[in-house]
Amino acid sequence: PQSWPHGSGLSNAELRAVLHETPTAEKIEEWSKYYTSGPHLAGGNFSQVLWTQEKWKEFGVEDTTIASYDVYINYPLDHRLALLKKKGSDNYEVTYEASLEEDVLDEDGTSGLRNRVPTFHGYSATGNVTAPFVYANFGTYQDYQDLIDADISVKGKIVIVKYGGIFRGLKVKRAQELGAVGVVIYSDPQEDGDITELNGYEAYPAGPARNPSAVQRGSVQFLSIAPGDPTTPGYASKPGVERQPPEHSIPSIPSLPISYTDALPLLKALNGHGPKAADFNDFWQGGGLAHKGVDYNVGPTPDDVVINLHNNQDYVTTPLWNVIGVIKGAIPDEVVILGNHRDAWVAGGAGDPNSGSAALNEVVRSFGEALKAGWKPLRTIIFASWDGEEYGLIGSTEWVEENLPWLSVANAVYINVDVAATGPNFDVSGSPLLNKAVYEVTSTVQSPNQTVKGQSVLDVWGGYISSLGSGSDFTAFQEFAGIPSVSFGFTGGKTNAVYHYHSNYDSFDWMRRFGDPGWKYHLTAAKIFSLMGAYFSEKPVLGFNATDYAVNLQKYVDRLKSHADNLPKKSHFSFGPLERSISSLYDAAVEFDAYAAKIESELGKEQPWYHWWKRLQLWLKVRTINTKYKILERKFLYESGLDGRPWFKHVVFAPGLWTGYAGATYPGLVESLDAGNITNAVRWSQIIQDRIGEATKLLG
Ligand code: GLU
Ligand code: CA
Ligand code: ZN
Ligand code: ZN
Repeated sequence: PQSWPHGSGLSNAELRAVLHETPTAEKIEEWSKYYTSGPHLAGGNFSQVLWTQEKWKEFGVEDTTIASYDVYINYPLDHRLALLKKKGSDNYEVTYEASLEEDVLDEDGTSGLRNRVPTFHGYSATGNVTAPFVYANFGTYQDYQDLIDADISVKGKIVIVKYGGIFRGLKVKRAQELGAVGVVIYSDPQEDGDITELNGYEAYPAGPARNPSAVQRGSVQFLSIAPGDPTTPGYASKPGVERQPPEHSIPSIPSLPISYTDALPLLKALNGHGPKAADFNDFWQGGGLAHKGVDYNVGPTPDDVVINLHNNQDYVTTPLWNVIGVIKGAIPDEVVILGNHRDAWVAGGAGDPNSGSAALNEVVRSFGEALKAGWKPLRTIIFASWDGEEYGLIGSTEWVEENLPWLSVANAVYINVDVAATGPNFDVSGSPLLNKAVYEVTSTVQSPNQTVKGQSVLDVWGGYISSLGSGSDFTAFQEFAGIPSVSFGFTGGKTNAVYHYHSNYDSFDWMRRFGDPGWKYHLTAAKIFSLMGAYFSEKPVLGFNATDYAVNLQKYVDRLKSHADNLPKKSHFSFGPLERSISSLYDAAVEFDAYAAKIESELGKEQPWYHWWKRLQLWLKVRTINTKYKILERKFLYESGLDGRPWFKHVVFAPGLWTGYAGATYPGLVESLDAGNITNAVRWSQIIQDRIGEATKLLG
């Protein structure tokens, strides 16, 4: 037998066959049905915690436990939004009372649950404000800047903005900084691609277009400043710990999400007031309600046309629960983690997160089948069902903060699936260290839609991998702990049924009829999920590629160059030193990957008659390679963190300060360049070079 640690019981081909063949559409449907049949807000889903734990044990993962935290979150008490006409000093006439409700549909089983979740924003402030209002397009930093440039102030006003483009909490953050007193965010049909009534599509439930009463709930935490419990940045929310004031990462002004039905009267009240949005610039063009009489004027409304926004939130410190399943491998300190969140805004959440939760159950069940067949993994595999993702990635962040000491040593990779399937397009983001693995795994899984027989997911997808920003549970792993992460799922495009994100209509019925009829994409996601887990847990030499990292580091520099135009004229900033450090890393990486490949092939040729000494030599080489691969990503952590947001420690990847979801690469440097601050730009260039230098040293 081999003398180095190894997986056992099943050959790699046998294991992969089990992972390919175990998951079924019937089971996926069963899990989806279960998880979508009742409210499961963070901290309010204990029966699903126990159910999940029970199932995973039943599947064969005996060591499944619950990790709980006491976290600061809000639950909705009361809300009101009305358009008023001022009649006297304290006398208002109600012009429109917003319903703030999603319609109950006979065709949608969960849309009418008696205890369904009201429309509200996670971490929104309690408040009751009455003020004239301004339309601020998507509420991006630049949109607000365009208003300032046009001498339109949001101070003392309520701002109404469209969903889209950036993370919703940052729309509120900038409004607050500029003195607005409240924010209303609505879903404009402009965001719905081709599937609108303008193109002849009927609205859900009759057809695939957005239901006019649909509302997108969601967190307004300042995600790009710090995720997790806002009262415990950097450490775990265990009972009794010291708490910080949360103001740095959650709003102090109230906000509400509304449907386009409720937005219509407000937008129409802006007609004729202030400039037309279309006259501002290209970014303000458009808006999907023109055919319903909205001119998209910016406002403000006259002093006697006001909105009353009333938001009442109950803030509590309450337990939430992650379910953690462990399969011990032969090498205890090389750990592969697979995670998905379980909490949802709505009763259904068939796409978000339950398509992922259904897939993860099939993944656990598949590995369980392998265990029953006698398999033992090479590396330890951990499955996580996170709670509190929706409020701010809380369950995963608190768990990483708590377990950081051993994760830093042992965790080789984190694989995330949030929404597994709401359409046919494969979408993936990840650390470049894992690109090769993503390509190899997706090339072994058949695509559900094939124009040519036999096409794999890779063939149909085309291979674009975006860099990680935030908005899901990989954030603490990648950007706080320096653990290479990847996150994927299948989503819809411009021509697919409109996905009712964070709405009651993200339901089992919608999924069955429109999102993924036949559960094909769920099934495919489950297979990619478990095969990727096995790829990282079973290959004797970790399936990483350092060269891809170096190549991408240079690409990110190329993308950055135009930002230097923001520096004062004649300032001598050069990308040369940074590029030279990347080029040294590249040389070391090419050599290291080649050496790893050589050792891997020597392992493959290993013969039963080898002397034990020769085996040991080979094993020590593998061990050294894997340790270096495992900690390479850690070298990009900068202990003091980014300027103004020290929780984010990775010098290459962070959420964009004003995008949230979309990533910024070299965040410290790009922010310095954009601010025109040469001193800081030089400082950050040096910090990054130092980190790259450490990575080069590690591989050299
Ligand atoms: N997926 C959640 C959202 O986009 C994440 C919330 C957060 O990270 O604060 O709303
Ligand atoms: Ca914390
Ligand atoms: Zn989600
Ligand atoms: Zn979500």
